Amino acid sequence: MVKKSQQSPSEIVRQLEKIVGRENVASDTVDLLAYTRDASPMEGVVPMAVVKVGDSLECSRVLSLANELGFKVYVRGGGTSAGGGGIAFQPNSVILDTTRMNRILEIDERNMSVTVQPGVIWSTLNEELAKRGLRVPFMGPESAYGATVGGSIALASMSSQGVTESGGTFNQVLSLEVVLPTGEITRVGSDALPTAGKYARVCCGGDFAGLFIGSMGVFGVITEATLRLEELPTSSRYIGVVFESWEQGLRFVQGILRKKLTPKSLNITPGRKSTESSWGVAGECGCRIVIEEPDDGIASRKAEAIISMARELGGVFPTSHEQNVENWWKKMFLRLVSQEREKGFAAHACHWLPVWRLPEIAEDAEKYFHQTWGVEEYGMKVSIGAYVADQRPAVGFSLFLFYRDDRESRLRAREIWEKWLAHIVERYGAVPYWMGMAWTRALMTRVRPEYRDFLRRLKRSLDPNDVLNPGMLV
Ligand SMILES: Cc1cc2nc3c(=O)[nH]c(=O)nc-3n(C[C@H](O)[C@H](O)[C@H](O)COP(=O)(O)OP(=O)(O)OC[C@H]3O[C@@H](n4cnc5c(N)ncnc54)[C@H](O)[C@@H]3O)c2cc1C
Repeated sequence: MVKKSQQSPSEIVRQLEKIVGRENVASDTVDLLAYTRDASPMEGVVPMAVVKVGDSLECSRVLSLANELGFKVYVRGGGTSAGGGGIAFQPNSVILDTTRMNRILEIDERNMSVTVQPGVIWSTLNEELAKRGLRVPFMGPESAYGATVGGSIALASMSSQGVTESGGTFNQVLSLEVVLPTGEITRVGSDALPTAGKYARVCCGGDFAGLFIGSMGVFGVITEATLRLEELPTSSRYIGVVFESWEQGLRFVQGILRKKLTPKSLNITPGRKSTESSWGVAGECGCRIVIEEPDDGIASRKAEAIISMARELGGVFPTSHEQNVENWWKKMFLRLVSQEREKGFAAHACHWLPVWRLPEIAEDAEKYFHQTWGVEEYGMKVSIGAYVADQRPAVGFSLFLFYRDDRESRLRAREIWEKWLAHIVERYGAVPYWMGMAWTRALMTRVRPEYRDFLRRLKRSLDPNDVLNPGMLV
């Protein structure tokens, strides 16, 4: 009898075709090469095949086959991961592509929830919901024109698009259907009880949706997700303000949170260089505030309170600040893409940080990229930003290193970027919300050993043959 691990790639392709049909398996080199990159400077191993699953059952059968025949499976949604994800990192692997699972299954206005397959793209979801006057409170990552809902949940995505008030993708999830690495299909949240429906997340013994959120698909493939809904706002206010010192700026941010004046989005331009280029006014800290409410009176009162707090702290309102912020907000899903068109591909370094550490890291980034590495000499550019997240004095700090996508430039950018990740984990306790292989390497050697051991034990019990996304987290 042929040993499991010795099954030939052509036999594996034949078996996959039996599950999903020939038209949904790719094994030509030219097709496979397209699956060796994500949106990071990393490069994956060429997989044996790409299999596009159409439903949970097909997904389950692919994973059962992988356990039986001994091949590895790496899951891929939109392929826009910016940290090394959705690509294969080991030989003898198959990419499981979820983009055929792209249906919005149910908009349930009684429970104010929407249920989707994992391959639904955020921009499609936003458009469909808007037709009913609804939206998910966090409207998706800036890559919304390519990123899938499943990929964003697996990466716990967040960004300015509603994160200050509503948190990131992680706060939107009510329940999930998941295919475990050994092929069983399960549901978590209130949907674990067949008579309950999908309306509550932390119940029935714990927060088991949480196990799959942000864990990059190592514990299971998300095959259905139910997310919260809210009504589209009818009143908006836009405010831009620059503070001469970090002290004023940080007091302003803390004041907004403490007084429960939380806007939909509170975005920070950190450091003199960034504020000058964004506002034409130099100051250590600039803020963009977006207020969105279902009532004009509430929007006005919130705006007045925020403006008066900014004035008391000595904030300066640059010319046309409202227009500046409105334009910035309305381009939410094109901001980074248009910067990339101008400056080159971006190596992303995005992570959580306590808001009070912003001054230090902004100054350090300036030194690291410009003085230590002299990135301009290589034709690279850097931009930094931050957004207050989840009604907490914490931010998502984002740094982009733009480079030309030729091999030499990409490898240099990768070195500079990977060393920066290791440095900020060590020095600032920076922790990633979305991860990928680059973050795993920077983080997992530095976390507490008992935490690493806990993850390993979880992985071993759910994926005894280490079939699904091996090495991505543990
Ligand atoms: C221009 C640009 C802007 C970006 N802006 C943001 C941003 O604002 N905020 C942000 O957080 N990120 C951002 N990103 C990074 C990335 O786009 C997002 O994190 C996005 O949510 C990834 O979704 P995806 O469908 O492309 O996932 P993929 O890249 O396909 O996969 C990402 C990870 O999730 C796993 N995975 C995918 N689907 C599933 C599934 N159904 N079940 C289990 N695991 C799965 C994969 O194995 C992989 O580990 C940006 C990237 C680009 C290129």
